[in-house]
Amino acid sequence: MFKHNSTSSSSSTSYERVTESVNHPLLKGITDKRLRLFTGGHFASQNLSSILERDRIDDREHVKMCVWSAPGESKPKFQEATQAFAPGKAGTDEGSKEYKKGDRLGPSWTNHWVHVELTIPRSFQSANEPVIFEFDPECEALIFTPQGKALHAITGGPNSDKDGVPGNQEDRRVQHVIPQAAVDAGIYEVIIEVSCNGMFGLGMNGYRHQRPDPNRYFSLAFADIVLINSEAVNLELDFEMVRQVAQSADREHSSLSHRALRVANDMMNAFRASNHYQTEEQLSAAIEKCRRIAARVLGDMSEERRKTLCTASRESGPDAKMWAIGHCHIDTAWLWSYSVTQQKIARSWSTQIDLMRRFPNHQFAASSAQQYAWLEELYPDIFEDVTEMVKADRFIPVGGAWIEHDCILPSGESLCRQYLYGQRYFEEKFGIRSKEAWLPDTFGYASQLPQILRLAGMEYFFTQKASLASEGGSSYS
Ligand SMILES: [Zn+2]
Repeated sequence: MFKHNSTSSSSSTSYERVTESVNHPLLKGITDKRLRLFTGGHFASQNLSSILERDRIDDREHVKMCVWSAPGESKPKFQEATQAFAPGKAGTDEGSKEYKKGDRLGPSWTNHWVHVELTIPRSFQSANEPVIFEFDPECEALIFTPQGKALHAITGGPNSDKDGVPGNQEDRRVQHVIPQAAVDAGIYEVIIEVSCNGMFGLGMNGYRHQRPDPNRYFSLAFADIVLINSEAVNLELDFEMVRQVAQSADREHSSLSHRALRVANDMMNAFRASNHYQTEEQLSAAIEKCRRIAARVLGDMSEERRKTLCTASRESGPDAKMWAIGHCHIDTAWLWSYSVTQQKIARSWSTQIDLMRRFPNHQFAASSAQQYAWLEELYPDIFEDVTEMVKADRFIPVGGAWIEHDCILPSGESLCRQYLYGQRYFEEKFGIRSKEAWLPDTFGYASQLPQILRLAGMEYFFTQKASLASEGGSSYS
């Protein structure tokens, strides 16, 4: 007989001989539902959500905003917008008016420029914790410095119904980290372009493939200064990762998923907000205990450990076995006009630059020379940042084509030109040629592709839709 030791953390390399499901027969349906109760929902005042923030403030003494609305569906650049808007005298500027929570902006596809002046409370300044500006206009937005430098995007409103991982919808992004220097100074200012569309457009009655609803308005849901408990937020991230492993598509065949289900439950069991952790020390100890349990799935997540994680580069040595790289797929033409695509590019990629500056290991890949050309023309500051990060091998242009093209309707000549102009652009701007064709969302492939791609210098081909038509997912094949 052998001993059951599959949960022992001391056996560093031993192979799992007994699955977690044998050791711990959790009832999957009930346990799954329970995991949803650890954050948010009806128990938000008792569960992990109750300790994520130390304080939150939204009164007009601390949060002053005014808004200027661009005429019609026009999309002025920062300089044009802020000239009309004359920031600096919130609430009194000609053409702009006071803006506060509950105020509605619209209709669909219009753009609005918000001037935000924040006064950081003294108690926030001395707390030695990150201070966040939580801004949720219930639609998409882009945050700029008062000088016009794009910082990153906001995706407001509830999470979309896009279900990346089963039970996991998390595209809402409404937090802006206030720089420490501004926290210390006690005053902070940003300009925000609010654009009245959702991540997936404005389909009628919430159905994204319906024609757009021309008359949607969006209410300002949050404009709060928040002092967070960063260790509690780290615990929330740990729990989310463990939960996603537990509920992954391959869970039935994965010993790790079974263990993650047990660990996620153990984390919940170890946390009792109703104990009313009396002191900071008690709270920290409780969080630390839960994070130690998470480490049974996630491993050592300490700062020290993370520093030694490999960052991929073209010169990666033989030790590198697996790469993960950030990517967001932006349809050049879909449920909105080109001007909205251009904004989505600026929002998505400025956010990646922001993440690269905050997380030295972060890398990101993006395709479509046309999207880079729009950025260069309309958002030269962001393009400069992208160019810098391409040189550093962290922002990786992929695909070598002008856009992620269709393969069925275009002629062979057209396909050749996709790669001629695409590779030419990447070579001219960044001194590189792509080696991988990148068509993740093309609905059908042409038989002449291998020849054309080889002659365009491609060594690899990437897609995720090779069998979509035969699976009944699409009609064009
Ligand atoms: Zn697509």
